[in-house]
Amino acid sequence: MTDFTVSRYGTDSGGRAIWMTAYMHDWLQGVYTDLGFAPTIVQGAFMTRNGGGASASAGYHDRGGCIDFRIWDLSATQQDKLIRVLREHGAAAWRRDQRHGGMDPHCHIVLGTDSPLAAGAAAQWRQYRLGFDGLASNGPDYEWRPSPLVLTPPVEADVTPEQQAAAVVGRMVRRDQSGLGCGVAAPRRGCRMKRADELSILPSVGMIALGVALLLLARALRAGA
Ligand SMILES: [Zn+2]
Repeated sequence: MTDFTVSRYGTDSGGRAIWMTAYMHDWLQGVYTDLGFAPTIVQGAFMTRNGGGASASAGYHDRGGCIDFRIWDLSATQQDKLIRVLREHGAAAWRRDQRHGGMDPHCHIVLGTDSPLAAGAAAQWRQYRLGFDGLASNGPDYEWRPSPLVLTPPVEADVTPEQQAAAVVGRMVRRDQSGLGCGVAAPRRGCRMKRADELSILPSVGMIALGVALLLLARALRAGA
């Protein structure tokens, strides 16, 4: 079941608490993974818990779904990727600046599947679906749009079969390193192998080969699916 419990997740760039639902927090982790970086949050959701949002936000951040990211410290390529990944993950996302909304530069997002949304945020989500920019002037969307539009965050398998097999291999290598004076994967300096160690490597190599075979099997299964 989707968990819309609101909790605090750290502090924003202005020193205020960052509030959001557990659902949105989980969703963000997937976004960060695909992005390869985590942008600075300048405003979270449920700003009424901090005594109200910024006046320029017109109440959008009073409830769920809305987060603002800092963009001035991101390259143009990173900014484009940010918009793209957020939208591919099912959120409306726009760069705001003086030209777009008369605001300081930042990225404003609305995750339409979060709950509850403030009335303004729900209206922006509807605007996004219809191809508008989410501003009072009702202009056309000026950011990249997925085709078809992603309105529900894609369901991601927590762990792929490849990752599972790789984790098994990783555990074997680690156990091997701790069990032996001399690790197979990363022999320590000044570590001299004794005959007994050499012998005990043999079954370990067999275990790693088994892990690799598992990995190949997982790939083959996935290719056949
Ligand atoms: Zn915002």
